[in-house]
Amino acid sequence: MLIRRWRSESGGIHYVYTRRVALKMETIHNPFCFEVNLHGANYSGIQCTFYCEKDCYMLAVWGVPIYELFELLNSDPEILKNSITSSSASEMFSSICKSSSDLLLVKGGEKKTVVFRPQRGCTDEAEIKPKEAIVRSIYPFVAIMILKDHDSTENTLIAMATAVHLPDEKLKLSARIIGQHVKSSFGPVSSVKKTYVSSETSRVDGENIHLCLACCTKAVSTVIIPCGHACVCTTCLEQCKNCPVCRGTAYTYFELQSIPVH
Ligand SMILES: [Zn+2]
Ligand SMILES: [Zn+2]
Repeated sequence: MLIRRWRSESGGIHYVYTRRVALKMETIHNPFCFEVNLHGANYSGIQCTFYCEKDCYMLAVWGVPIYELFELLNSDPEILKNSITSSSASEMFSSICKSSSDLLLVKGGEKKTVVFRPQRGCTDEAEIKPKEAIVRSIYPFVAIMILKDHDSTENTLIAMATAVHLPDEKLKLSARIIGQHVKSSFGPVSSVKKTYVSSETSRVDGENIHLCLACCTKAVSTVIIPCGHACVCTTCLEQCKNCPVCRGTAYTYFELQSIPVH
């Protein structure tokens, strides 16, 4: 049970019990792989290694307004592809960004390592750097991979955008991937997040299973949303308002296939 409470006009506190329901989980295969060599990644160049199981386009862009990026990622798959691959003046994606690389066509199954640099025309580094110290509206660097062709009748991942933070004078935090967003052909843009799994394991039928941190007897059977911790069984989660690991509110959860422990 998740307990919500609010103060009524009369000043009393009301407790309302709302049933938390598990979200339906669908497994979608991710054909993209993208890594950044974080050592030496800066505003003059970033070494990236990428791979896709099928032919795909790759575009690296600098100084990307976050809101516009999401608006574009949420658009129709064909519009998204045209925006990234079209060389016409109406080219949307490059026009919202400060600088973009030349579009690459990556052969399916081929692993590539490329150093992307802001274009020579964009020599003013200040142009592509976020202006704000903390709350930022620009991603310094984004690499977008999008499938050249896809079967429109199947729900597959068609694009992945990786956003990279680069240190600047205002925010010296070292270079790192700050977000990886995938778009599926049928629907929304979602963020690739780590699922943190309990390290307490028990061997059952020759398989290592993760044990619930609360009861230590049942198998972990939930992934708490939004933190992504997979640490308790469904029964124990019923008793928890917050995630036992990070104390974050457990708004909802994915149910994992539960394996009985004897
Ligand atoms: Zn439990
Ligand atoms: Zn958590």
